[in-house]
Amino acid sequence: MLSTMQDVPLTVTRILTHGMTIHGKSQVTTWTGEPEPHRRSFAEIGRRATQLAHALHDELGIDGDQRVATLMWNNSEHVEAYLAIPSMGAVLHTLNLRLPAEQLVWIVKHADDKVVLVNGSLLPLLAPLLPQLTSLEHVVVSGPGDRSVLDGAAVRVHDYEELIAGRPTTYDWPELDERQAAAMCYTSGTTGDPKGVVYSHRSIYLHSMQVNMSESMGLTDRDTSLVVVPQFHVNAWGLPHATFMSGVNMLMPDRFLQPAPLADMIERERPSHAAAVPTIWQGLLAEVIANPRDLTSMANVTIGGAACPPALMEAYDKLGVRLCHAWGMTETSPLGTMANPPAGLTEEEEWPYRVTQGRFPAGVEARLVGPAGEHLPWDGESAGELEVRGAWIAGAYYGGADGVALRPEDKFSEDGWLKTGDVGVISEDGFLTLTDRAKDVIKSGGEWISSVELENALMAHPDVAEAAVVAVPDDKWGERPLATVVLKEGATADYEALKAFLAESGIARWQLPERWSVIASVPKTSVGKFDKKVIRKQYAAGELD
Ligand code: ADP
Repeated sequence: MLSTMQDVPLTVTRILTHGMTIHGKSQVTTWTGEPEPHRRSFAEIGRRATQLAHALHDELGIDGDQRVATLMWNNSEHVEAYLAIPSMGAVLHTLNLRLPAEQLVWIVKHADDKVVLVNGSLLPLLAPLLPQLTSLEHVVVSGPGDRSVLDGAAVRVHDYEELIAGRPTTYDWPELDERQAAAMCYTSGTTGDPKGVVYSHRSIYLHSMQVNMSESMGLTDRDTSLVVVPQFHVNAWGLPHATFMSGVNMLMPDRFLQPAPLADMIERERPSHAAAVPTIWQGLLAEVIANPRDLTSMANVTIGGAACPPALMEAYDKLGVRLCHAWGMTETSPLGTMANPPAGLTEEEEWPYRVTQGRFPAGVEARLVGPAGEHLPWDGESAGELEVRGAWIAGAYYGGADGVALRPEDKFSEDGWLKTGDVGVISEDGFLTLTDRAKDVIKSGGEWISSVELENALMAHPDVAEAAVVAVPDDKWGERPLATVVLKEGATADYEALKAFLAESGIARWQLPERWSVIASVPKTSVGKFDKKVIRKQYAAGELD
């Protein structure tokens, strides 16, 4: 029997029209580096997004599902692009401005981007690539920057404000199928070519609702969210769409992502929520220890993208800031789990839950798979590869303009689940603890050593600012751990003491690293995660003492 309910497509258009009316007074505040930040209401952003859609369609000829790229910081114009492009039926393609040039060129070509919206401050990055970006017909520049670098380029150049000025603030939005493409994002391609994940209107809509649920980030129109995670990193973890849906105010750092301006904007604008990867929180912590600021407005902070060291969580607890751990991937939109503890526990009882990656919402099904493909129990002990499925989880990668969707065997199971490449255990009550990425696990004499466990233990030492542990070849054991550490100012390296500290924190003797190196900083990927590939290369080249 079919239901008797209306079949209304779940689309970004609905998020736009709802946010700009019902939540018209909510605001996006963009940091400018000037004494006053820039503020724009949702009503105004909605009107400007509508004008942008007109400009793209009426003036630049964007039609159907053509791709419109953005090369932008987090700011209100980027939010306008997030709303306008999918609503008109086109596909928003966020470009990671920290990718190496050759990867950016590959991605723009593969996605067949026709237009790029770019912040003026990023023109020096874009201009030299233009001769190779042959699919691009238009460059739309927003904000300050030297535009003369575009002189002579074989594209039409527009000023964002001039392009949208005077255009209608209403639009006869197309009736879209909710399964249609709305946005796309490429994984950073640590192995092989980057892979394009294409989000649908439906997946974005459902993911936005989940982000706002109290079991996830729990955001409402009483909140202000400091969106540090870049809009090119898995759609800023879904925040621009989720916040627009629920009237959550956004605080956007634009290009001011260094610890000092971040601390200033938190003290001054008093956001109640924030989202960023652990390295951002490490940097901010060092800043406020050196130059104290009031961070206490942030009752609720989402930290994810890489394992959060428990010592970092403790340090922020002391500052009155509660970090909540989340796990996800480009392929999972990204919300997979969040570590809000179950109800009714004391602070002490909550702790073991807070240091996990968290539990899965109803929209994400999970299973653990062992080496022979067997499904493992949720007993908190059996470790296997995590596989997930759900309405906002990728089922394939983009195959290129005329290509067929790609389902590589190492990324998708035969029955359609996403193989995450993450290894861990799940407790009886559904809390996930990741021990490693499959490719980072250290295989020593047939046993596995978790690099994350060693790193977390090391980062609890008072002399250690950051620590990254990688597998290196060993004649006797196959692989052994190499511990690279960044020391705090004034500290000196005492490997024996660090080893003893690891042993005291419960690391088994045979897992203790015998190879150590002090480094100035841990190399980071384009989205601020530890880049272990680089450390392995440096070791192989004999660059680490
Ligand atoms: P990339 O592979 O380039 O880092 P993603 O941002 O999609 O791109 O990264 C997803 C991966 O990041 C996950 O598969 C996992 O290994 C790691 N990750 C994300 N969140 C966490 C977390 N909370 N704890 C540990 N690892 C995490």
